Amino acid sequence: MSRKPLKDPLDLLDLAVTLSDEEREIQATVARFLTERVRPHLAEWFENAHFARELAPELGKLGVLGMHLEGYGCAGTNAVSYGLACLELEAADSGFRSFVSVQGSLSMYSVRKWGSEEQKREWLPRLAAGEAIGCFGLTEPDFGSNPAGMRTRAVRDGGDWILDGTKTWITNGGIADVATVWAQTEDGVRGFLVPRGTPGFTTRDIKQKMSLRASVTSELHLDGVRLPDAARLPLAEGLRAPLSCLDEARFGILFGAVGAARDSLQAAMDYAGSRVQFGKPIGAFQLTQKKLADMAVSLGSAALLAVHLGRLKDTDRLRPEQISAGKLNNVREAVAIARECRTILGANGISLEYSPLRHANNLESVLTYEGTAEMHTLVIGQALTGHAAFR
Ligand code: FAD
Repeated sequence: MSRKPLKDPLDLLDLAVTLSDEEREIQATVARFLTERVRPHLAEWFENAHFARELAPELGKLGVLGMHLEGYGCAGTNAVSYGLACLELEAADSGFRSFVSVQGSLSMYSVRKWGSEEQKREWLPRLAAGEAIGCFGLTEPDFGSNPAGMRTRAVRDGGDWILDGTKTWITNGGIADVATVWAQTEDGVRGFLVPRGTPGFTTRDIKQKMSLRASVTSELHLDGVRLPDAARLPLAEGLRAPLSCLDEARFGILFGAVGAARDSLQAAMDYAGSRVQFGKPIGAFQLTQKKLADMAVSLGSAALLAVHLGRLKDTDRLRPEQISAGKLNNVREAVAIARECRTILGANGISLEYSPLRHANNLESVLTYEGTAEMHTLVIGQALTGHAAFR
């Protein structure tokens, strides 16, 4: 006996009933934009390593840049709505979601949370509108998981600061109008806003990536960069400032990963319904059904976890180790789903005509950035045992 198949694997557990009308509407609006303006070009952008910068003002108009922040031209939605926007963005491409995450949760959030009133007025409205692009430089060539060791230095010179150092693997670096740069000072880590064009500040894009190809990733070089004290984020003291920004971005990621996995599974379900071998659709074989069923259950669980964590965030109860649990689980499951979906597509699965392998490759970056899977495991381990096992 045959029944009508589900179109959206998230309908298996009725994810939509956990959402308000407004949240569903925001999600649908973002999805519509992506279907019209982004999805038709994704394979080409990925193949040509192209980031469609011209879409930044359109994303601004859509309201997704700094979407969950209040004031200064930001939409001020709840956290779940922001998460759902990330889910849809990453269902298109992790590179696109990365652009939005870095712009809103790292660049804009660093200014909103730790900046002066003047810095907020100068940068936030333009960043929210997509008229300016921001990046966030924490990682260095020798310090990734352990940013406390950073070598970038900011030294006082009269009323100014002189910055020297190198940041690497910086999303949006080569196209950013302003970089939030974290540097060691004699009083500990401080953040600085470095506008493009500041003498001594240069960028170099990283090429030959096999992941996040539709996203700009760059090195930032600071060679005797002189900045006034007004460029320092006045409220940011110590490493907890950049780490608070990372928690914001990780929240978007734990929703985003669900999007990449959903899109992969949808592609595999469509394919399994139409590809005929041995006289019937491959979706009618038990082995294919086991793959699809296992993936749909793990996808639904990841989505429910994301919404649960979003509800905690919206009531100011979300703890860092919970964000770690969400990022660890959802990205890990998404990578597994995208790879398994690729197998269902057979040889066609290695073509950019289908999304699963593009998602799987993108998710390799997502597994590593914003804290590797290992770092999040250690955060959870510390919460469970009380022992820090980082060193
Ligand atoms: P390492 O820290 O060298 O780690 C290598 C391996 O060792 C990992 O598996 C790690 O988990 C493991 N490891 C390290 N220490 C331990 C330990 N104590 N116990 C067990 N295992 C350990 N950074 C930014 O600042 N801004 C950005 O915008 C940004 N965008 C990025 C975009 C992309 C596409 C990528 C790939 C990275 C980006 N990053 C960015 C950098 C990212 O945050 C780092 O790559 C990440 O923190 C890991 O650092 P690392 O690559 O130096 O790896």
